Amino acid sequence: YRAKALGGGHLFYQAAMSEGMAERMELAKDLTRAFGAGELQLHYQPQVCLQTGALVGAEALLRWHDAERGWVSPASFIPIAESRGMIAALGGWVLRAACRQLREWRDGGLSFPGRLSINLAAQQLGQAGIADSIQQIAAAAGLDPGCLELELTESGVMDNVERAIATLATLKQAGFSIAIDDFGTGYSSLAYLKRLPADKLKIDISFVREMLTDRHDYTIVNTIIGMARNLGLKVIAEGVEQGPQAQLLSALGCDEAQGYHYGRPVPPAEFAQAWLAPDPATV
Ligand code: C2E
Ligand code: MG
Ligand code: MG
Ligand code: MG
Repeated sequence: YRAKALGGGHLFYQAAMSEGMAERMELAKDLTRAFGAGELQLHYQPQVCLQTGALVGAEALLRWHDAERGWVSPASFIPIAESRGMIAALGGWVLRAACRQLREWRDGGLSFPGRLSINLAAQQLGQAGIADSIQQIAAAAGLDPGCLELELTESGVMDNVERAIATLATLKQAGFSIAIDDFGTGYSSLAYLKRLPADKLKIDISFVREMLTDRHDYTIVNTIIGMARNLGLKVIAEGVEQGPQAQLLSALGCDEAQGYHYGRPVPPAEFAQAWLAPDPATV
């Protein structure tokens, strides 16, 4: 529309559009190939208790290294996977790979305290039978749902609220923990939040980043923590990069934190080396 208003820009607009489309098609093609070739991996980032500093869980994060592009951010390829009808396969793989990893750590005599968090894409949440399929995947790995947490973004939930609420209720009932990711950046109203069967809010990194210097960000973080506590929800801050942020979050009553201050997402062996100890029950 804008190109038309610019008159002579029409051709330019078409060229720019097809360039962007070509790029996305190219990315989708390479992603499909890489996924088929088993080149996608999961890295793991620690989540800690702000009071004690103890490990309370980890988040599994998708990683794709492309020969030409280098590391491609999941924030850019997940939407492409969704628009290309790949998300069921990719999301299913993430669930199985994360569950298998936790199984492997346990079978290797390592104790993994708390929960392993897995991200669910908006479209995955809308898939028919997704709650059953998640339960089957956990069971196949011999995992109790209580050791798994599912992260959904607010916008993912808002895509189809009634369906999301029903699916999440089933999963929560089965024992999975439910976290609302990137909280504060979506469009969910408090009326929906009240109805969502969630256990935890994850304060978005964009509020945490400058909470020490920007009084609006500070106020938002403080408000989310207060609201979570009043609603009986746990609250975790993402993107904690500095000690003073952790101290302030702890003073404000935030339960948990995740961020470079504690550890970056790393491959499983490195994560185990840094964070997991032998399980006293098995040694
Ligand atoms: P997210 O779920 O909010 O994950 C947190 C992101 O923040 C991760 O980015 C993580 O690497 C990054 N991060 C953690 N601590 C810090 C910090 O202290 N500073 C900064 N600057 N960043 C930090 P990543 O791994 O690039 O993932 C981006 C997004 O892609 C995720 O955001 C999530 O929405 C999506 N994603 C990643 N893996 C998966 C997956 O397996 N399935 C789905 N559906 N989405 C995924
Ligand atoms: Mg997440
Ligand atoms: Mg997040
Ligand atoms: Mg985020």
